[in-house]
Amino acid sequence: MSRRSPDAMKIRCTAKLQFRAFLTTAKLEFRGAFSKEEEGMPETIFNENICKGCGLCVTVCPKKIIKLDTTRVNIKGYYPAIVNNMAECIGCANCAKICPDSVITVKK
Ligand code: SF4
Ligand code: SF4
Repeated sequence: MSRRSPDAMKIRCTAKLQFRAFLTTAKLEFRGAFSKEEEGMPETIFNENICKGCGLCVTVCPKKIIKLDTTRVNIKGYYPAIVNNMAECIGCANCAKICPDSVITVKK
């Protein structure tokens, strides 16, 4: 069985670490190249003036990104539902399906 010198082992370890760093960088660059936006990010549109602020959409969103905006009221006098972090939306359309007044449209 051959034995490697400590120097050869050190070179081998360094090469391994450099290769790992290269793979990590390449992976991150690849992910960046196909960002959610470029892949066609889902879009949730609220026809806010017909929202009655019932909150049903808030309860069914798996990402917990819908809330009632309590800082203002719509023309009907209700707190309108809004999405507070669209980047988290997965386009499942639970919110649109449950809304009794068809306020929400989900575009994928
Ligand atoms: S489409 Fe799904 S994830 Fe997006 S806001 Fe509606 S319920 Fe939430
Ligand atoms: S379910 Fe429809 S009406 Fe109720 S808060 Fe959500 S968007 Fe408004």
